[in-house]
Amino acid sequence: MYIENTIDQLKLKYENEPEFLQAVEEVFHAAEPLIKAHPEYEKADLLMRMAEPERMIRFKVVWTDDKGKVRTNVGYRCQFNGAIGPYKGGLRFQKNVNESIIKFLGFEQTFKNALTGLPIGGGKGGADFDPSGKSDGEIMRFCQSYMSALYRYIGPDRDVPAGDMGVGKREIGYLFGQYRRLKGNFENGVLTGKGLSYGGSLIRPEATGYGAVYYLCEVLKHENDTIEGKRIGVSGYGNVAWGIMKKAAELGGKVTYFSGPDGYIHDEDGVDTPEKIAFIEKMRREDPMHCEPYAKKFGCRFVAGEKFWGVRDVDILMPAAVQNDVDLEHAEKIAASGVKYYIEVANMPTVYEALEYLRKCRGIIVAPSKAVNAGGVGVSALEMSQNAERLSWSEEEIDGRLKQMMVKIYEASVKAAEEYGLGYDLVAGANIAGFKKVAEAMMEEGIF
Ligand code: GLU
Repeated sequence: MYIENTIDQLKLKYENEPEFLQAVEEVFHAAEPLIKAHPEYEKADLLMRMAEPERMIRFKVVWTDDKGKVRTNVGYRCQFNGAIGPYKGGLRFQKNVNESIIKFLGFEQTFKNALTGLPIGGGKGGADFDPSGKSDGEIMRFCQSYMSALYRYIGPDRDVPAGDMGVGKREIGYLFGQYRRLKGNFENGVLTGKGLSYGGSLIRPEATGYGAVYYLCEVLKHENDTIEGKRIGVSGYGNVAWGIMKKAAELGGKVTYFSGPDGYIHDEDGVDTPEKIAFIEKMRREDPMHCEPYAKKFGCRFVAGEKFWGVRDVDILMPAAVQNDVDLEHAEKIAASGVKYYIEVANMPTVYEALEYLRKCRGIIVAPSKAVNAGGVGVSALEMSQNAERLSWSEEEIDGRLKQMMVKIYEASVKAAEEYGLGYDLVAGANIAGFKKVAEAMMEEGIF
């Protein structure tokens, strides 16, 4: 009753924030056995306090385009939960960004970050700015204006933004430059995903994708299986999908399907050569809206305007593009295809009913994004450590720590589900483990 009541109250209060409500519902339901075992949470109004961000900063971002026209966008930074560490999470620059999307991402980030085992709280930000077709000068001026509004709210011990969709190394560079210009101090621990020349970490660009593959390997191991020879379908062809392609190829698997907003590609041979992987990276940098050029270049099939969910010639599916990529109809096709592994990678890529449906299907193992994609922010936390110590670790050191982190996240999830009598349930386990850590800190820090 406590969970349902809280969700009902939130639905009344935030009826215009569907993504946020979906994320809350997913976490609270998945963590139900833990919440039920702790009646003191209700007394402390813990669920409502968890669902309410500590702070939502909204600001205007005014900039001038190359034609001299003044443009106005809206920027956000949601400092969701700082109980276990400074707020940490990416910035998303995308046309459709709104308060609901930023809030859902901040909420998810809180539990994901807790799962990494590192001291980072949850935050997220962004702007309704569409980076496509913008010149380098326009991007720089936008980033400078964005940081001029944001800099007073962030800092290495307060809130540490990073990249997300539409924000990569270039944008982080301009954001950091402006922060430094305004603050005067060289505080490079204020942002992660930086270039190597001013304190960025090796492996950070690949970390989310690499981490996802390390996690996948643990799931396969549990089934007495390996990644060797496996065909993987990945939605998207951004930073995360690219990291998956690279690591999967290195370990003997191959990505045979991937997609973009324009349709999907089927490459039977797999995206497994350095040439193909480099082409993907270039294609994304030059045009994040179209993956068709890959088909032209490498002579494989492109299907316009469609998604590949439900194809029969894959062993593993990894949605790695955007939220709500897979709906109930897709989920039914996936179940009918006989695929065994459904490994979420993007934040909330599955519509709630679709996720519940897949979780109930026999023969499909479902892994939740907040565990699978935690390696990205995990390596960001390692970047923060390196900045604090004013040194940089080697590639082997970071890759080794990332792998260890993913194994620990997987093991903690398995253990948490077992502890609450749920058997092998990676979705419930990750939610319980992440929730537990944040809840403990909030309970110990007192009522506020
Ligand atoms: N945006 C990424 C995520 O969703 C990375 C955040 C970070 O590195 O702080 O976790």
